[in-house]
Amino acid sequence: MIPFLELKSRFRAIEPEVRSAIDRVLDRGWYVLGEEVQHFEREFADWLGVEHVVGVASGTDAIHLALRALGVGPGDEVITVANTCVPTVTAIEAAGARPVLVDATPDTLTMDPDGVASAITPKTRALVPVHLYGHPCDMDALMPIAEEHGLMVVEDCAQAHGARYRGRPCGTFGHAAAFSFYPSKNLGAYGDAGAVATGDSKIAERLRRLRSYGQEDRYRHVERGVNSRLDELQAAILRAELPHLDAWNQSRRMLAERYDRLLEGLPARRPAKAQRADSSWHLYVVRTQHRDALRTHLKARGVGTEIHYPIPVHLQPACAHLGYSRGHFPVAERAAGEIVSLPLYPELAPDDVDIVVHAIGAFQP
Ligand SMILES: *Cc1c(COP(=O)(O)O)cnc(C)c1O
Repeated sequence: MIPFLELKSRFRAIEPEVRSAIDRVLDRGWYVLGEEVQHFEREFADWLGVEHVVGVASGTDAIHLALRALGVGPGDEVITVANTCVPTVTAIEAAGARPVLVDATPDTLTMDPDGVASAITPKTRALVPVHLYGHPCDMDALMPIAEEHGLMVVEDCAQAHGARYRGRPCGTFGHAAAFSFYPSKNLGAYGDAGAVATGDSKIAERLRRLRSYGQEDRYRHVERGVNSRLDELQAAILRAELPHLDAWNQSRRMLAERYDRLLEGLPARRPAKAQRADSSWHLYVVRTQHRDALRTHLKARGVGTEIHYPIPVHLQPACAHLGYSRGHFPVAERAAGEIVSLPLYPELAPDDVDIVVHAIGAFQP
């Protein structure tokens, strides 16, 4: 049996560190926005190479609050990509702005810069590129478009902890970057958690207010905020994990390269990466004809798979009011019918990759 994802082995590998982190919090008796959160914010900022990190309750809130902190709100349009998961769009709407979608490029399945250029209107205020699967977007093409039109850029880094573009970490290109620490992400809490990274101290300051009911100091509320705080237990667990993140990402890379090599010549190939992009390999996604039959075949051999994502956001009932329909984003629509994510996590054995690929090789449509 090779499950699609197995989180318990991650815990077992660092169990003493996690247990002592949890004990530290319990012994202290301070549970929300305390010492652990402060330390984690500093340590994650240092790891990423940014000035400021502000912990929040989820990746969705990180996108939402980053947009608000940058002054994006009602009446504004925010461009993102149809090939993402729903929370990217939910977050834009939570900020009060209107999501405008563009298609992905057929080779990489990430945000199409030409699509962005033609979606810009006088109301466009911001761009949310999504480094999907951990594959960086074509930032050399996107950033000049944003600069030319004076757009704010919030990178959706929920799958991109450790991804690099031209050697520079994803999350350091835009005005702000949103990270999710949902348990399955490359850096995963034991519950919901997220953070915004930014180089701008004013933005960071505003984020600290927004996450805590708009409070500037105790019981003095200067703007309408939300409750989106990072708790001490999650921050302590994330601190225990952070020193292992580079090694975990290295393990993902090694396994992904093994998939690349072994899948050569088989009719299941991953999308290309943008030029100069180093993935964080959050997911190993391949495209294939007869996707559903292949999944059934793999399941019968004990190999778990998932689809990220089976319905492009513009065809989700929750997004119907945006006014898009089938045919609007052919690249994202076609990909949704062909993609399948194979098992990939740091604790996966290289032999397991061989078994998965062998099972794919034995598939007869
Ligand atoms: C997980 C994810 C989110 C949302 O993060 P949560 O922590 O679940 O709110 C947003 N965008 C992308 C691309 C994601 O993978």
